[in-house]
Amino acid sequence: MSAIIIDGKEIARRVREDSAARTRTLRASGVEPCLAVVLVGEDPASVSYVTGKEKALAEAAMVGRDLRLPASTSETELIDLIGALNADPAVHGILVQLPLPKHIREDRVIMAIDPAKDVDGFHPVSVGNMVIGTPGFLPCTPHGVIVMLKELKIPTDGAHAVVVGRSNIVGKPLANLLARRDVNATVTVCHTGTRNLAEHTRRADILIAAAGRPRLLTGDMVKPGAAVIDVGVNRVEDASAKKGYRLVGDVDFASASEVASYITPVPGGVGPMTIAMLLRNVVEAAELRSAGAERTIR
Ligand code: NAD
Repeated sequence: MSAIIIDGKEIARRVREDSAARTRTLRASGVEPCLAVVLVGEDPASVSYVTGKEKALAEAAMVGRDLRLPASTSETELIDLIGALNADPAVHGILVQLPLPKHIREDRVIMAIDPAKDVDGFHPVSVGNMVIGTPGFLPCTPHGVIVMLKELKIPTDGAHAVVVGRSNIVGKPLANLLARRDVNATVTVCHTGTRNLAEHTRRADILIAAAGRPRLLTGDMVKPGAAVIDVGVNRVEDASAKKGYRLVGDVDFASASEVASYITPVPGGVGPMTIAMLLRNVVEAAELRSAGAERTIR
């Protein structure tokens, strides 16, 4: 058996087209959807993520306000900047690229963002809305995975979904979204405390890897016919690659694709969905504001 390779770029393109169309409508009424992107320091992976997000914003005819601050920026300075962006009516969304330098407390910074502009969906108010099922911004990567499953019509109702990873930005929200009534999966969450990982993963109809461990999940850990979604992005040394490294997922693609029914590649799988969902959240923030409906997402 050889799995169907999921084309994340194509699904993301469709989501982005929808956002671009909604942006045109907003622009026609004088509203320019605007995302403020805040980067503190020069971590190379963060610089590349931020550059990718800004390029995507430009392609969707949205405004990207690029705020690059030195690594020496204090927590108070950063929180003051967020306060100014919260108060700026031209800014619809605020994204603070993580991780932040060690001397800045991430939770303080996330808490400072107005939930009405929290397009990353990391603010506790957004997390609470997600869990309860009230309107709010959903975190981009987990939401992207759900949209991917829906677009491909992969059956989720009553399916057993196993999520490997319990981080606040991927594993936990994904487990929540999978268990919501509109997806209706039965969810198992695996983590570093899980005793026999393979025993759990082999029972998954939908196996989602978000552990940040290169090739953690091999073909023998996958149930035949399962849909395998690989969120992991890991740099591994590769002397033959121009940059000296290449990107691999948490799934051993070669062996898992022999067993699975569907599988996402890395790169080109979940990654493009994350940016597409971010753009959608920015458009939504602008639409809500222009409709004077901010309160619905609080
Ligand atoms: P994280 O390090 O915060 O969390 C990893 C989780 O995996 C932890 O909860 C840990 O308990 C679990 N884990 C680690 N090793 C394990 C093991 N051997 N067995 C079982 N569980 C294990 O990472 P994160 O921020 O959730 O990111 C996970 C991966 O997803 C990373 O590779 C990251 O780069 C990638 N990521 C990709 C996107 C995207 O857009 N594609 C977005 C966010 C994160």
